[in-house]
Amino acid sequence: MTIAVERLDELVTALRTVLRDEQILTSKPDRYNRARVPAPFPVHRWSERLPDLAVLPTSTDEVAGVVRIAHDLRVPIVPRDGGTGLTDGAVPLRGGIVVDVKRMNQVKELDLENRTVTVGTGISMLKLNEVLGKHGLFYPDDPASYPCSLVGGRIGTSGWSLIGSRYGHTRDLVLSFDHVLPTGEVMHVGDGIGHKISKSSSGYQLKHLFMGHQGTLGIATEATLKLFPKPEAELSPFWAFDNYDDAYRCVGALARAGVATFAGAVLFDEWKVAYLRRDDEAYIPQPGDVRALVCAVMYGYEDEVRPAGKRLFRIAREHGARYLGDEISEGDWAARHDRYATPLHGRTKSGQVVPMSWHCEDAAINYTDLPSVSKAWHEIVADLRRRTDVFDDWGMFTYTSGNTGVDYLTEIDVGIWEQQLDDRAWEMWVRAKRDIAAVALAHQGSISACHGSCREGEVDLVPDELGRGYDVMLDLKRTLDPHNIMNPGKYLLDRAYDTGAP
Ligand SMILES: Cc1cc2nc3c(=O)[nH]c(=O)nc-3n(C[C@H](O)[C@H](O)[C@H](O)COP(=O)(O)OP(=O)(O)OC[C@H]3O[C@@H](n4cnc5c(N)ncnc54)[C@H](O)[C@@H]3O)c2cc1C
Repeated sequence: MTIAVERLDELVTALRTVLRDEQILTSKPDRYNRARVPAPFPVHRWSERLPDLAVLPTSTDEVAGVVRIAHDLRVPIVPRDGGTGLTDGAVPLRGGIVVDVKRMNQVKELDLENRTVTVGTGISMLKLNEVLGKHGLFYPDDPASYPCSLVGGRIGTSGWSLIGSRYGHTRDLVLSFDHVLPTGEVMHVGDGIGHKISKSSSGYQLKHLFMGHQGTLGIATEATLKLFPKPEAELSPFWAFDNYDDAYRCVGALARAGVATFAGAVLFDEWKVAYLRRDDEAYIPQPGDVRALVCAVMYGYEDEVRPAGKRLFRIAREHGARYLGDEISEGDWAARHDRYATPLHGRTKSGQVVPMSWHCEDAAINYTDLPSVSKAWHEIVADLRRRTDVFDDWGMFTYTSGNTGVDYLTEIDVGIWEQQLDDRAWEMWVRAKRDIAAVALAHQGSISACHGSCREGEVDLVPDELGRGYDVMLDLKRTLDPHNIMNPGKYLLDRAYDTGAP
């Protein structure tokens, strides 16, 4: 769905009025590089997802200028930050312009008194924390993709932080931001008009509307973020269990203990442990009797983390946990940001090792529903494996959300042999994704806790999840983006423009 040559020339000429030549990228490698995301897609169909060009703006004004031009010429436009999104949010489905914001990565203002920082949305949390660390501060948005996902992408997906039980998730940590609407107008959203206010009850809570929309409502360009003292101590004990049920009960008990420094817990199920063991990818030695693992994490001052740790150790012991030792615990927690960067491989039914990419389906589920969701999900993936060698079950991770222990992000990881992913296997995969999402809904869960749900398969059920709320989404999309230029094709929002005419 590329733009015709004459229109492309017109577009480039218009873009030259707001950008320098070197900010407008039209070469094949530049375009291919901005179509790629880690989620799998049949290799033979990649060319269907290419942008016509990419731009590298350096300021809010430049982004606004580009969006105004796209709006006037009715050209699709897709914001892209780190490109680590797992539901194809940053993939251009209709060609057009990819707005790559990586050059907007400056720290603009550091306010040590009010403990906020204002940044360009092209900065990563890793880079930001290098700057903040010199002032004894840190920004605790901590996804497993921490080194390579960027602040704007975190806003676009409203992501999940692994230490969110202590500090909150992206939606809590971003105080306000400058946002370019699909018409090219610029507004500031946050709590009230201020940049650094964290609570207001004036008007509608627009900040949340402009987070997690996957680039369908505009582009965040500059954000003000909430900061915390850099933790003096970190404790991340890894415990092994000889059965899943004890590990599951242990996670619930840890989360409900009400320990203030508790930042989160991760539960690895039996399939995950088996995968780590059989494919040698583990950073944790896996004796044969280990069936499940739990990692709890505490952050804070030394004199609060140590006693809190003793309490959590006691709870873990009461649930049959075996401590794996300091070296494994610290090493594995430190490795959480790059575990997926290692070369990945899975197994065919015959036991053959083959290269596989990693994909995960994430849902938010209540604690009490986890065992039955887990059973249903593994059955869906087992069915896929029975039918083809393209897939491998890599098990489930479950993360606590709040220290109340109420809702949990749970994900099932699937190895996908991308080179073998033809149209037939892709269809199977899309159907499985739909089934996985349906299980979440049947348990009153949410289809996605952090990645979003705008890919084939799970997206089909979003209207079911949101009910009347989905119609409101359509109304908002039509009002704010009258010509459907912002990331068209995502979240089935084209329905907003159906006129019903024959
Ligand atoms: C190994 C790995 C581990 C991961 N772990 C986690 C995790 O623990 N928690 C979690 O939440 N996610 C995780 N993810 C998913 C991904 O990292 C997040 O969704 C992240 O928020 C995406 O950020 P990004 O900068 O890469 O955004 P992109 O992938 O570039 O974009 C994501 C979406 O946001 C839109 N967007 C991008 N920039 C802007 C902007 N400036 N304004 C408005 N919309 C914009 C895009 O159009 C797209 O729809 C993981 C991914 C990988 C590969």
